[in-house]
Amino acid sequence: MTEAMKCIGCGVLVQTEDKQGIGYAPPSSLEKEPLICQRCFRLKHYNDIQDVSLTDDDFLRILNGIGQTDALVVKIVDIFDFNGSWLPGLHRFVGSNKVLLVGNKADLIPKSVKAEKVIHWMKYSAKQLGLKPEDVFLISAAKGNGIEELAGAIEHYREGRDVYVVGCTNVGKSTFINRMIKQFSDETENVITTSHFPGTTLDLIDIPLDDESSMYDTPGIINHHQMAHFVDKKSLKVITPTKEVKAMVFQLNEEQTLFFGGLARLDYVSGGRRSFVCYMSNHLKIHRTKLEKANDLYENHLGELLTPPSGEELKEFPELVKHEFTIHERKTDIVFSGLGWVTVNEPGAKVVVHVPKGVGASLRRSLI
Ligand code: GDP
Repeated sequence: MTEAMKCIGCGVLVQTEDKQGIGYAPPSSLEKEPLICQRCFRLKHYNDIQDVSLTDDDFLRILNGIGQTDALVVKIVDIFDFNGSWLPGLHRFVGSNKVLLVGNKADLIPKSVKAEKVIHWMKYSAKQLGLKPEDVFLISAAKGNGIEELAGAIEHYREGRDVYVVGCTNVGKSTFINRMIKQFSDETENVITTSHFPGTTLDLIDIPLDDESSMYDTPGIINHHQMAHFVDKKSLKVITPTKEVKAMVFQLNEEQTLFFGGLARLDYVSGGRRSFVCYMSNHLKIHRTKLEKANDLYENHLGELLTPPSGEELKEFPELVKHEFTIHERKTDIVFSGLGWVTVNEPGAKVVVHVPKGVGASLRRSLI
């Protein structure tokens, strides 16, 4: 088994022999991307409503364990998919341990937006979600922005204790850990080891910080509400922004619809002519049509004009389900988990959002 044969859900090595064993995946699934073990597959497909982070036994044990140890918790979220990458319930587990909240992928946020504003928004949003972080940071693990400051803060807040890095899959945790290894390790030594967390089957990457303490990388947990789990590798490339996202403004009349590829749809029902500012990957095509034509268009042109999804992917693509929202506050984001968001500046709009069954859609105070 190579490095690449790891489950994207829990990080265990995938094997095809022992059905009852950890990391089992049917041989046929090895050709599929992304690779996922049967346990995570089941979690993902048969447990739609609840968050995996709260149902995965081993992860629960790790969280419980962290709550019982004296440690600093570093929680990483994807700033472009804040809600979709939030680990709900973490605050209930960490006990009295301090939490540093880290927003990764800062490079995707338009440069015109000040970091302080995003940090302020993260503090507000964390509080709304029940977490009171000790401090909040905005970084780009890929570009290296904010890494040194964060490393300094980790050193400051940990006060000699161990550090646990938590986050769901795709937030950039591995990229971040690699940065931290460079930051904290003496390059002349090969110091990285893995260790079992007591009572679990999952390996943690162990980065020694000093003679007594370490930074541990916990497995990335699948969060159901992310669009990423419903599309294939090719489509994931389309929806995942790789550089600063550009605002795309649509002036819509009532009863007009925007399609985001064929992955999601926004119906503007009522509220007079107004603008909708879309923040999504620059590669995703946005298609405008009349509401009355939208159903037909979707039925007849999904996979062609409206793509992704396409080809084989269409077979397993979930149906779109509706969520109705009325916008009551100024500057509200309509969030399509894992895809991005659409900002509405003035209250009074009524919209219907269509997303694949299982993917989150919500309103929030505007990030930008
Ligand atoms: P993990 O699943 O949390 O371990 O995430 P990875 O480190 O494998 O990263 C997931 C995806 O996010 C990859 O496509 C990375 O290239 C990308 N990524 C990681 N960090 C950043 C970042 O700072 N900025 C951007 N734009 N992408 C990032």
